Amino acid sequence: MPKTQETVLEVDLNALQHNYDYLKSRITKGAKLLVVVKAYAYGSDAQEIAGYLQNLDVAYFAVAYTNEGVALRDAGITKPILVLHPQPFNYKTIMARCLEPSLYNFNSFNQFIEAAALENQQDYPIHIKFNTGLNRLGFNEDDIKAVVDKLKATSSVKVKSIFSHLAASEDLNEKDFTLDQIHLFQSISESFIKIIGYKPMLHLCNTSGILNYPEAHLDMVRSGIGIYGFGNSELENKHFTPIATLKSVISQIHSIEKGETVGYNRAYKSDSFIKTATIPIGHADGIGRQYGNGKGYVTIHGKPAYIVGNVCMDMIMVNVTDIDCKEGDTVIIFGQHPNATQFAERVNSISYEIITAISQRVKRLIIK
Ligand SMILES: *Cc1c(COP(=O)(O)O)cnc(C)c1O
Repeated sequence: MPKTQETVLEVDLNALQHNYDYLKSRITKGAKLLVVVKAYAYGSDAQEIAGYLQNLDVAYFAVAYTNEGVALRDAGITKPILVLHPQPFNYKTIMARCLEPSLYNFNSFNQFIEAAALENQQDYPIHIKFNTGLNRLGFNEDDIKAVVDKLKATSSVKVKSIFSHLAASEDLNEKDFTLDQIHLFQSISESFIKIIGYKPMLHLCNTSGILNYPEAHLDMVRSGIGIYGFGNSELENKHFTPIATLKSVISQIHSIEKGETVGYNRAYKSDSFIKTATIPIGHADGIGRQYGNGKGYVTIHGKPAYIVGNVCMDMIMVNVTDIDCKEGDTVIIFGQHPNATQFAERVNSISYEIITAISQRVKRLIIK
């Protein structure tokens, strides 16, 4: 691996292959894999990740918003792309770029059918989302008849899949709730298939659903965080390798005498001599102010160096009093040790938030 000379996010495709292989080993035979590449593939690099996975046995990609799907098409991704949360405003673009919308209420559904008819589409693939307890997006069980009636009256669209999303698949204390969601989805699917007269694909599980509810893999599963190297539990994390490592360098070392202060608003006041290192990463790069004032830390030569004072826009200062280090030395923010879960835990956050927060200003370095 090259020596770090500035702040970079290294993205390791060997780790990606490892996580893919491990997930595959946990997916019930016959179930397809959809990989969620929303939010720049969880902060890594959607085009590289989708480009790599496109050559493996991945049936589908999913993004949250239409423009993310457009970027993948522009990058030459030809596999089906499900757009989880489009707006009617996007429908023309969705069809122009062969993206497949999730339709989740009568407003989104009716408007898409109208737009597809206007464009003279036949059997345009759509995905119908049902709410089974997350209460975020989705039709309710009571809506099935009205949805199917409307579908029977048009040939412009065809249902490629029906799906739902689990609210607490990683939390085994909520197992009863999750089982209720699974049963409700089964009952919705059965009614839907019975009255529409053909069988769309069924899918329900995200990464923790894959790991904890093998009986619910159905026709396809949707993995995001697992592909990027997190299993959402200490036990499962052992089987995954984080693909992204955020690294930086020490720009300058300062000696702070008793009584001096460090950083904006003089938030840190020294009551004894300390040594600080200034690192070129700040809140504009995704390290939020909540990590400041001793909460968050970076790792230098394997040792934690806690943030001193406030996080600046482009820099942090960290305490290196007890670390033998010099200007130009490598700094690890998160990667394998500590991983993003451990880094984020310090501010009661989770891997998902910190890995997707790293701004586009930070260079992505792909390791093949
Ligand atoms: C983001 C998302 C996923 C991926 O979840 P992970 O926990 O990252 O595996 C799956 N399905 C839907 C609907 C999502 O929004």
